[in-house]
Amino acid sequence: MKTHQIELQISAVGPAQYPGDQLPEIALVGRSNVGKSSLVNSLVGRKGFARTSNQPGKTQTLNFYTIDQKWRLIDVPGYGYAKVSKKQRADWGKMIENYLTQRENLRGVISLIDGRHQPMELDKQMVEFLRYYQLPVLVVATKTDKVPRNQRNKINSVFKQQLQIAKNEELILYSTVERYGQAEVWNWLNQQLN
Ligand code: GDP
Repeated sequence: MKTHQIELQISAVGPAQYPGDQLPEIALVGRSNVGKSSLVNSLVGRKGFARTSNQPGKTQTLNFYTIDQKWRLIDVPGYGYAKVSKKQRADWGKMIENYLTQRENLRGVISLIDGRHQPMELDKQMVEFLRYYQLPVLVVATKTDKVPRNQRNKINSVFKQQLQIAKNEELILYSTVERYGQAEVWNWLNQQLN
């Protein structure tokens, strides 16, 4: 696997801290614990760079990771964690909405959804929200190695149907354990970034 340079440029809570340059950005969204940090690490071939944690919902900052000094992955704090206050949830909502709707550098969003289950209501709402703002969306079904091999095709059809994935949208099955999906995600990334 190719190793890429990755650097946490800034953990931001608001626009004043966003980097002021023109590097294209791709955001990562998903429920807490969906496998976001693991995906970042496996994409750049740097085990343990982005923090994988057992403390879902802890991060309330947008983490701007600069890759190969050319583009950025923006790690958006996970949604759907029960043990946060109403105020934290509202602040989270404002921060995300502001970034996703105002950021000119943004080229597309990877929506991570746990592939072991059917998409949940919040997952569907997030995909709808991104479509509403006409952001290119890639749906990545995570942890699919946990699904028996002979049922993995079903994830495809269930996700496509439940999320109403259109012809011009993509769905990729991903596993950091069995290591598949990475090349397909890179392919999509290159399309958005070039
Ligand atoms: P985050 O909170 O979204 O950043 O999620 P993490 O990357 O920290 O992952 C949450 C948990 O899911 C960790 O225990 C990971 O080891 C596990 N995990 C992540 N990706 C995979 C995967 O592809 N397969 C399996 N089996 N477990 C995974």
